[in-house]
Amino acid sequence: MKEQIIARRNEPWRDELRKNLKNKERADIPRVHMNELDPEYRSHNSEEVNLGLTAEQAMQEAKRCLDCPNPTCMSGCPVSIQIPTFVKYIEVGKFLDAAKVLKETSALPAVCGRVCPQEKQCEAQCIHLKMKKDPVAIGYLERFAADYERESGQMSVPEIAKPNGIKIAVVGSGPAGLSFAGDMAKRGYDITVFEALHEIGGVLKYGIPEFRLPNEIVDVEIDILRKMGVKFLNNCIVGKTITYEDLHVDGFKGIFAASGAGLPNFMNIPGENLIGVMSSNEYLTRVNLMDAANPESDTPVLIGKKVAVIGGGNTAMDSVRTARRLGAERSMIVYRRSEEEMPARIEEVKHAKEEGVEFLTLHNPIEYIGDERGRVKQMRLQKMALGEPDASGRRRPIAIAGAIDTIDVDEVIVSVGVSPNPLIPSTFKGLDVTKWGTIIVDESTMRSALPDVYAGGDIVRGGATVILAMGDGRKAAAAMHQQLSSD
Ligand SMILES: Cc1cc2nc3c(=O)[nH]c(=O)nc-3n(C[C@H](O)[C@H](O)[C@H](O)COP(=O)(O)OP(=O)(O)OC[C@H]3O[C@@H](n4cnc5c(N)ncnc54)[C@H](O)[C@@H]3O)c2cc1C
Repeated sequence: MKEQIIARRNEPWRDELRKNLKNKERADIPRVHMNELDPEYRSHNSEEVNLGLTAEQAMQEAKRCLDCPNPTCMSGCPVSIQIPTFVKYIEVGKFLDAAKVLKETSALPAVCGRVCPQEKQCEAQCIHLKMKKDPVAIGYLERFAADYERESGQMSVPEIAKPNGIKIAVVGSGPAGLSFAGDMAKRGYDITVFEALHEIGGVLKYGIPEFRLPNEIVDVEIDILRKMGVKFLNNCIVGKTITYEDLHVDGFKGIFAASGAGLPNFMNIPGENLIGVMSSNEYLTRVNLMDAANPESDTPVLIGKKVAVIGGGNTAMDSVRTARRLGAERSMIVYRRSEEEMPARIEEVKHAKEEGVEFLTLHNPIEYIGDERGRVKQMRLQKMALGEPDASGRRRPIAIAGAIDTIDVDEVIVSVGVSPNPLIPSTFKGLDVTKWGTIIVDESTMRSALPDVYAGGDIVRGGATVILAMGDGRKAAAAMHQQLSSD
């Protein structure tokens, strides 16, 4: 791959482009702003908030890339996208070529362009930061190229090797499973993805709401995998509907476990069982997958007017912004540390604030109080201060003695982390599992203690990110292919 990167960089048109504009001139171009819907308008509907870049904006932003001989941005990309190559194609208006480069290593470019924490990955390694400038907006450009290709109706399907007839099973259709499936299909394997839910896509469908990632975008990228020959079997729970042994009987020669971490954590404080207190997993899954915001649906979700969401991650932001859209008059984030320590993407925090969400930072719930019918009506919050850094490197929250607030609420959504789905670790006998329930793998190959089982994504990492899950899928595919080719 290194040779390909160098060869592409040395192509005459890239040379010419570098000569056209000096690095200083490129670096002086200000970073583009994402076009967005108006906050007041968008906080009452589920339309996508970010509108993408125009072609002119994208070409101008692409000029900011210095086409470095040693592109540090790539070292920040877990799926090794050839970033300067696709960016330079955008600079010269070859948008479909840019999209093709993305698809060489990423099964989900339109998804990653929307939800990947670029500020912590590729953009965090951009050379501009060393010059005290804003990094190139790699994520916005990725989204632009992928959207351009989809909207042009000229979606390319990656090349597939001659079918080798070897059957491989994938457990779970989230980003880890999809990325693995794409890479294995390219190598000619016969791939079946087994999914417990009725929809394909994992958290991309059941977790992340439409206003951030429209389902239609996910479906188009899944469709490309179908065109590559990947088969999907939904409503099939591996470990229950079909067992590890059944997969062997059916002739599967390798299994990639990508079953995610969908088990919600609670705080075990008084009142968590009251009506109106639920996990963000339940809340978002019901709204996103079961039409539960519709009062006519079979299982409508409670529509709160005073909604508190406990936590400071992406899931918490998605929940509180969903509550706002469903009509909450007061929507609050309750977080025990300060905003600086929040794990959510900066953009999500900014958007939530613009939409009127209140941030009760340095507050920690200690009890929920119910009315005579068992419905939550208040929460008691312990005020906190920050102490020394803890094992996570973030400053430890410490309770301020006697400082307690009581606030009226009619719905509480608990979003304080997730644990791995336990079914695969418990039914695939012989797997090594940590005390948290994650599957132990060899980090360089993602191979587990069972020789035919590889694993990746949240089932290995606990709750992580889309791009890390996809990186695991790619690594596992390369290693499984090598193992099967040498057997
Ligand atoms: C609300 C929310 C918002 C998020 N926002 C972001 C974000 O903005 N950016 C980001 O990078 N990350 C975000 N994340 C995290 C990210 O989505 C996850 O890290 C990522 O989806 C993990 O991918 P995965 O493939 O390992 O698992 P998942 O996406 O969880 O997929 C696992 C799939 O396996 C299926 N499954 C489980 N058990 C079985 C079984 N026994 N048989 C068959 N199927 C099974 C599940 O139904 C699920 O569909 C968010 C997470 C949530 C919950």
